[in-house]
Amino acid sequence: MSEVHKFIFEGLPVRGVLVRLTDAWSQILQRRAANTTTGAYAQPVQNLLGEMVAAGVLMQSNIKFDGALILQIAGDGPVKLAVAEVQSDLSLRATVNLQTDVKDSATLSQMVNVHNQGRCAITLDPNNKFPGQQPYQGVVPLFDDSGQPLQQLSAVLEHYMLQSEQLDTTLVLAADGAVAAGLLIQRLPVMGEKNLAGSMVSQDNEDQIGLNEHYNRISILAKSLKREELLTLDVETILRRLFWEETITRFEPLQGDAAPRFACNCSRERVARMIVGLGQEEANSIVAERGDIEVGCEFCGAQYRFDAVDAAQLFVAPEQITEGVGLRH
Ligand SMILES: [Zn+2]
Repeated sequence: MSEVHKFIFEGLPVRGVLVRLTDAWSQILQRRAANTTTGAYAQPVQNLLGEMVAAGVLMQSNIKFDGALILQIAGDGPVKLAVAEVQSDLSLRATVNLQTDVKDSATLSQMVNVHNQGRCAITLDPNNKFPGQQPYQGVVPLFDDSGQPLQQLSAVLEHYMLQSEQLDTTLVLAADGAVAAGLLIQRLPVMGEKNLAGSMVSQDNEDQIGLNEHYNRISILAKSLKREELLTLDVETILRRLFWEETITRFEPLQGDAAPRFACNCSRERVARMIVGLGQEEANSIVAERGDIEVGCEFCGAQYRFDAVDAAQLFVAPEQITEGVGLRH
Protein backbone atom coordinates (compact mmCIF):
# COMPACT_ATOMS: atom_id res chain seq x y z
CA MET A 1 0.00 0.00 0.00
CA SER A 2 1.05 3.61 -0.50
CA GLU A 3 2.57 5.39 2.50
CA VAL A 4 4.27 8.60 3.66
CA HIS A 5 6.71 8.75 6.58
CA LYS A 6 7.93 12.00 8.14
CA PHE A 7 10.82 12.30 10.56
CA ILE A 8 13.21 14.77 12.15
CA PHE A 9 16.80 14.42 13.22
CA GLU A 10 16.82 14.94 16.97
CA GLY A 11 18.43 18.22 17.98
CA LEU A 12 19.45 19.09 14.41
CA PRO A 13 17.87 21.56 11.95
CA VAL A 14 17.08 18.76 9.50
CA ARG A 15 13.88 16.95 8.58
CA GLY A 16 12.94 14.22 6.15
CA VAL A 17 10.05 12.60 4.30
CA LEU A 18 9.99 9.18 2.67
CA VAL A 19 7.19 8.20 0.29
CA ARG A 20 6.35 4.89 -1.36
CA LEU A 21 3.47 4.74 -3.83
CA THR A 22 2.23 1.37 -4.98
CA ASP A 23 -1.55 1.12 -5.53
CA ALA A 24 -1.92 4.85 -6.25
CA TRP A 25 0.84 4.64 -8.86
CA SER A 26 -0.41 1.37 -10.42
CA GLN A 27 -3.82 2.94 -10.97
CA ILE A 28 -2.30 5.75 -13.00
CA LEU A 29 -0.38 3.28 -15.18
CA GLN A 30 -3.33 0.90 -15.60
CA ARG A 31 -5.66 3.69 -16.70
CA ARG A 32 -3.13 4.86 -19.25
CA ALA A 33 -2.57 1.33 -20.56
CA ALA A 34 -6.35 0.93 -20.92
CA ASN A 35 -6.60 4.09 -23.02
CA THR A 36 -6.96 2.80 -26.58
CA THR A 37 -5.95 6.16 -28.08
CA THR A 38 -2.63 6.49 -26.27
CA GLY A 39 -1.68 3.01 -25.03
CA ALA A 40 0.77 2.46 -22.16
CA TYR A 41 3.72 4.76 -21.43
CA ALA A 42 7.16 3.93 -22.81
CA GLN A 43 9.42 2.98 -19.91
CA PRO A 44 11.44 6.24 -19.65
CA VAL A 45 8.19 8.27 -19.70
CA GLN A 46 6.66 6.01 -17.05
CA ASN A 47 9.73 6.41 -14.83
CA LEU A 48 9.80 10.20 -15.25
CA LEU A 49 6.10 10.52 -14.40
CA GLY A 50 6.51 8.23 -11.38
CA GLU A 51 9.35 10.39 -10.09
CA MET A 52 7.18 13.48 -10.61
CA VAL A 53 4.30 11.95 -8.66
CA ALA A 54 6.61 10.88 -5.81
CA ALA A 55 8.18 14.36 -5.75
CA GLY A 56 4.74 15.99 -5.77
CA VAL A 57 3.68 13.96 -2.72
CA LEU A 58 6.96 14.75 -0.92
CA MET A 59 6.57 18.48 -1.55
CA GLN A 60 2.87 18.57 -0.71
CA SER A 61 3.32 16.64 2.53
CA ASN A 62 6.21 18.93 3.49
CA ILE A 63 4.13 22.14 3.50
CA LYS A 64 1.11 23.47 5.32
CA PHE A 65 -1.10 24.35 2.40
CA ASP A 66 -4.78 23.87 1.51
CA GLY A 67 -4.94 23.33 -2.22
CA ALA A 68 -3.34 21.58 -5.18
CA LEU A 69 0.39 21.28 -5.76
CA ILE A 70 0.94 20.88 -9.49
CA LEU A 71 4.29 19.81 -10.87
CA GLN A 72 4.58 20.33 -14.62
CA ILE A 73 7.32 19.80 -17.15
CA ALA A 74 6.76 21.57 -20.46
CA GLY A 75 9.19 19.84 -22.79
CA ASP A 76 10.69 20.84 -26.12
CA GLY A 77 11.16 17.21 -27.22
CA PRO A 78 8.95 14.11 -27.56
CA VAL A 79 7.31 14.86 -24.20
CA LYS A 80 5.16 17.94 -24.66
CA LEU A 81 3.72 18.16 -21.15
CA ALA A 82 3.99 15.99 -18.05
CA VAL A 83 1.73 16.80 -15.10
CA ALA A 84 1.51 15.48 -11.55
CA GLU A 85 -1.16 17.02 -9.33
CA VAL A 86 -1.35 16.33 -5.59
CA GLN A 87 -4.09 17.72 -3.33
CA SER A 88 -3.62 18.54 0.38
CA ASP A 89 -5.33 15.26 1.31
CA LEU A 90 -2.75 13.49 -0.90
CA SER A 91 -5.25 12.42 -3.53
CA LEU A 92 -3.39 12.62 -6.81
CA ARG A 93 -3.50 12.25 -10.58
CA ALA A 94 -0.93 12.51 -13.35
CA THR A 95 -0.60 12.34 -17.11
CA VAL A 96 1.82 12.85 -19.98
CA ASN A 97 1.05 14.39 -23.33
CA LEU A 98 3.40 13.12 -26.03
CA GLN A 99 4.43 14.84 -29.24
CA THR A 100 6.14 11.78 -30.73
CA ASP A 101 7.18 8.31 -29.55
CA VAL A 102 9.92 8.02 -26.94
CA LYS A 103 12.78 5.55 -27.37
CA ASP A 104 13.35 3.01 -24.59
CA SER A 105 16.85 4.40 -24.06
CA ALA A 106 15.78 8.06 -23.83
CA THR A 107 17.36 10.22 -21.12
CA LEU A 108 15.60 13.08 -19.33
CA SER A 109 17.02 15.72 -21.65
CA GLN A 110 16.24 13.62 -24.75
CA MET A 111 12.61 13.52 -23.63
CA VAL A 112 12.00 17.06 -22.42
CA ASN A 113 15.00 19.30 -23.07
CA VAL A 114 16.33 18.69 -26.58
CA HIS A 115 16.98 22.39 -27.29
CA ASN A 116 17.48 23.47 -23.65
CA GLN A 117 14.04 25.12 -23.83
CA GLY A 118 12.25 22.75 -21.47
CA ARG A 119 10.80 24.18 -18.26
CA CYS A 120 9.63 22.84 -14.93
CA ALA A 121 6.84 24.69 -13.14
CA ILE A 122 5.59 24.22 -9.59
CA THR A 123 2.17 25.69 -8.96
CA LEU A 124 0.36 26.07 -5.65
CA ASP A 125 -3.32 26.53 -6.39
CA PRO A 126 -5.16 27.32 -3.14
CA ASN A 127 -8.66 26.04 -2.43
CA ASN A 128 -11.23 28.75 -1.68
CA LYS A 129 -9.42 31.48 -3.59
CA PHE A 130 -10.60 35.02 -2.98
CA PRO A 131 -11.83 36.84 -6.12
CA GLY A 132 -8.96 37.63 -8.45
CA GLN A 133 -6.43 35.58 -6.50
CA GLN A 134 -3.86 33.93 -8.77
CA PRO A 135 -2.16 30.63 -8.00
CA TYR A 136 1.48 30.93 -6.94
CA GLN A 137 3.87 29.60 -9.59
CA GLY A 138 7.64 29.13 -9.71
CA VAL A 139 9.43 28.13 -12.91
CA VAL A 140 12.95 26.74 -13.33
CA PRO A 141 14.84 25.71 -16.47
CA LEU A 142 16.11 22.18 -17.00
CA PHE A 143 19.76 23.19 -17.05
CA ASP A 144 22.25 24.09 -14.33
CA ASP A 145 23.95 27.44 -13.66
CA SER A 146 26.54 26.73 -16.36
CA GLY A 147 23.86 25.91 -18.95
CA GLN A 148 24.39 22.13 -18.90
CA PRO A 149 21.15 20.09 -19.24
CA LEU A 150 20.22 18.38 -15.97
CA GLN A 151 19.84 14.61 -16.26
CA GLN A 152 17.82 13.99 -13.11
CA LEU A 153 14.45 15.37 -12.08
CA SER A 154 15.77 15.46 -8.50
CA ALA A 155 18.47 17.94 -9.56
CA VAL A 156 15.86 20.16 -11.26
CA LEU A 157 13.71 20.25 -8.12
CA GLU A 158 16.66 20.76 -5.74
CA HIS A 159 17.57 23.74 -7.91
CA TYR A 160 14.03 25.04 -7.62
CA MET A 161 13.93 24.68 -3.83
CA LEU A 162 17.22 26.51 -3.46
CA GLN A 163 16.31 29.31 -5.88
CA SER A 164 12.78 30.07 -4.88
CA GLU A 165 12.65 28.88 -1.27
CA GLN A 166 16.24 29.43 -0.12
CA LEU A 167 16.17 25.94 1.35
CA ASP A 168 18.85 23.29 1.09
CA THR A 169 17.01 20.21 -0.12
CA THR A 170 18.17 16.75 -1.11
CA LEU A 171 15.91 14.55 -3.19
CA VAL A 172 16.30 10.93 -4.21
CA LEU A 173 13.59 9.75 -6.61
CA ALA A 174 12.89 6.48 -8.40
CA ALA A 175 10.02 4.78 -10.22
CA ASP A 176 9.31 1.63 -12.18
CA GLY A 177 6.16 -0.16 -13.30
CA ALA A 178 5.12 -1.04 -9.74
CA VAL A 179 6.53 1.56 -7.33
CA ALA A 180 7.10 5.33 -7.33
CA ALA A 181 9.21 6.40 -4.37
CA GLY A 182 11.21 9.28 -3.02
CA LEU A 183 13.24 10.59 -0.12
CA LEU A 184 13.40 14.28 0.80
CA ILE A 185 15.89 15.73 3.27
CA GLN A 186 15.63 19.42 4.07
CA ARG A 187 17.48 21.86 6.25
CA LEU A 188 15.11 23.73 8.50
CA PRO A 189 15.47 27.50 8.41
CA VAL A 190 17.28 29.11 11.29
CA MET A 191 14.43 31.48 12.06
CA GLY A 192 10.71 31.44 11.44
CA GLU A 193 8.57 29.02 9.53
CA LYS A 194 9.86 28.94 5.99
CA ASN A 195 8.40 26.61 3.41
CA LEU A 196 6.74 26.72 0.01
CA ALA A 197 3.71 28.54 1.33
CA GLY A 198 5.54 30.71 3.83
CA SER A 199 7.05 34.10 3.30
CA MET A 200 9.75 34.75 5.87
CA VAL A 201 13.34 34.50 4.73
CA SER A 202 15.82 35.66 7.28
CA GLN A 203 19.32 36.82 6.46
CA ASP A 204 20.62 34.19 8.85
CA ASN A 205 18.92 31.49 6.82
CA GLU A 206 20.45 32.67 3.55
CA ASP A 207 23.86 32.76 5.18
CA GLN A 208 23.43 29.10 6.14
CA ILE A 209 22.79 27.78 2.60
CA GLY A 210 25.20 24.95 1.84
CA LEU A 211 27.08 25.50 5.11
CA ASN A 212 25.26 23.52 7.77
CA GLU A 213 27.52 20.57 8.57
CA HIS A 214 24.71 18.41 9.97
CA TYR A 215 22.57 18.91 6.89
CA ASN A 216 25.54 18.26 4.61
CA ARG A 217 26.40 15.00 6.39
CA ILE A 218 22.80 13.74 6.30
CA SER A 219 22.44 14.82 2.66
CA ILE A 220 25.47 12.71 1.68
CA LEU A 221 23.99 9.72 3.51
CA ALA A 222 20.66 10.24 1.71
CA LYS A 223 22.38 10.48 -1.68
CA SER A 224 24.03 7.11 -1.09
CA LEU A 225 20.60 5.48 -1.36
CA LYS A 226 20.51 3.53 -4.62
CA ARG A 227 17.55 3.47 -6.99
CA GLU A 228 17.06 -0.29 -6.47
CA GLU A 229 17.10 0.10 -2.69
CA LEU A 230 14.53 2.89 -2.78
CA LEU A 231 12.25 0.79 -5.00
CA THR A 232 12.55 -2.56 -3.23
CA LEU A 233 13.32 -2.02 0.48
CA ASP A 234 10.71 -1.24 3.11
CA VAL A 235 10.77 2.09 4.94
CA GLU A 236 12.22 0.71 8.19
CA THR A 237 15.14 -0.89 6.38
CA ILE A 238 15.91 2.23 4.32
CA LEU A 239 15.95 4.53 7.37
CA ARG A 240 18.03 2.10 9.41
CA ARG A 241 20.59 1.54 6.65
CA LEU A 242 21.03 5.23 5.88
CA PHE A 243 20.79 6.86 9.29
CA TRP A 244 21.81 4.21 11.83
CA GLU A 245 24.28 6.62 13.44
CA GLU A 246 21.71 9.45 13.71
CA THR A 247 18.88 9.87 16.22
CA ILE A 248 15.60 10.05 14.35
CA THR A 249 12.16 10.91 15.71
CA ARG A 250 9.40 9.58 13.50
CA PHE A 251 5.86 10.88 13.17
CA GLU A 252 2.70 8.86 12.70
CA PRO A 253 2.91 7.53 9.12
CA LEU A 254 0.25 8.48 6.59
CA GLN A 255 -1.11 5.13 5.46
CA GLY A 256 -4.45 3.41 5.05
CA ASP A 257 -7.18 6.08 4.76
CA ALA A 258 -4.63 8.91 5.08
CA ALA A 259 -2.33 7.46 2.39
CA PRO A 260 -1.81 9.03 -1.03
CA ARG A 261 -4.40 7.67 -3.47
CA PHE A 262 -5.48 8.11 -7.05
CA ALA A 263 -8.48 10.39 -7.63
CA CYS A 264 -9.60 12.43 -10.62
CA ASN A 265 -11.81 15.49 -10.19
CA CYS A 266 -12.92 15.70 -13.80
CA SER A 267 -16.68 15.96 -14.38
CA ARG A 268 -19.28 16.34 -17.11
CA GLU A 269 -19.91 19.89 -15.82
CA ARG A 270 -16.26 20.87 -16.31
CA VAL A 271 -16.20 19.45 -19.82
CA ALA A 272 -19.45 21.31 -20.56
CA ARG A 273 -17.83 24.58 -19.44
CA MET A 274 -14.86 23.85 -21.70
CA ILE A 275 -17.15 23.30 -24.70
CA VAL A 276 -18.97 26.56 -23.91
CA GLY A 277 -15.51 28.16 -23.87
CA LEU A 278 -14.92 26.97 -27.43
CA GLY A 279 -17.90 28.99 -28.58
CA GLN A 280 -21.13 27.94 -30.25
CA GLU A 281 -19.78 28.16 -33.79
CA GLU A 282 -16.86 25.83 -33.06
CA ALA A 283 -19.10 23.40 -31.13
CA ASN A 284 -21.62 23.33 -33.99
CA SER A 285 -18.94 22.62 -36.55
CA ILE A 286 -17.61 19.67 -34.52
CA VAL A 287 -21.14 18.25 -34.21
CA ALA A 288 -21.70 18.80 -37.96
CA GLU A 289 -18.50 16.96 -38.77
CA ARG A 290 -18.60 14.06 -36.27
CA GLY A 291 -22.21 13.85 -35.13
CA ASP A 292 -21.28 14.56 -31.49
CA ILE A 293 -18.59 16.03 -29.27
CA GLU A 294 -16.57 13.46 -27.38
CA VAL A 295 -13.99 14.53 -24.83
CA GLY A 296 -11.76 12.09 -22.97
CA CYS A 297 -10.09 12.91 -19.63
CA GLU A 298 -6.35 12.42 -20.00
CA PHE A 299 -5.93 11.78 -16.28
CA CYS A 300 -8.46 8.99 -15.70
CA GLY A 301 -9.66 8.00 -19.16
CA ALA A 302 -13.33 8.93 -18.58
CA GLN A 303 -15.19 9.71 -21.81
CA TYR A 304 -17.74 12.52 -21.95
CA ARG A 305 -20.06 12.49 -24.95
CA PHE A 306 -22.32 15.36 -25.96
CA ASP A 307 -24.72 14.62 -28.82
CA ALA A 308 -26.23 17.34 -30.99
CA VAL A 309 -29.05 18.00 -28.50
CA ASP A 310 -26.70 18.09 -25.47
CA ALA A 311 -24.33 20.42 -27.29
CA ALA A 312 -27.11 22.79 -28.37
CA GLN A 313 -28.41 22.94 -24.78
CA LEU A 314 -25.05 24.18 -23.55
CA PHE A 315 -25.62 27.42 -25.38
CA VAL A 316 -29.11 28.24 -24.10
CA ALA A 317 -29.82 30.17 -20.90
CA PRO A 318 -27.25 29.49 -18.13
CA GLU A 319 -29.77 28.05 -15.65
CA GLN A 320 -30.68 25.39 -18.20
CA ILE A 321 -27.05 24.33 -18.70
CA THR A 322 -26.68 22.47 -15.43
CA GLU A 323 -30.08 20.87 -15.95
CA GLY A 324 -29.26 19.76 -19.47
CA VAL A 325 -25.89 18.42 -18.39
CA GLY A 326 -27.24 16.84 -15.25
CA LEU A 327 -29.80 14.78 -17.14
CA ARG A 328 -27.14 12.44 -18.47
CA HIS A 329 -24.87 12.42 -15.48
ZN1 LIG B 1 -10.67 12.38 -15.11
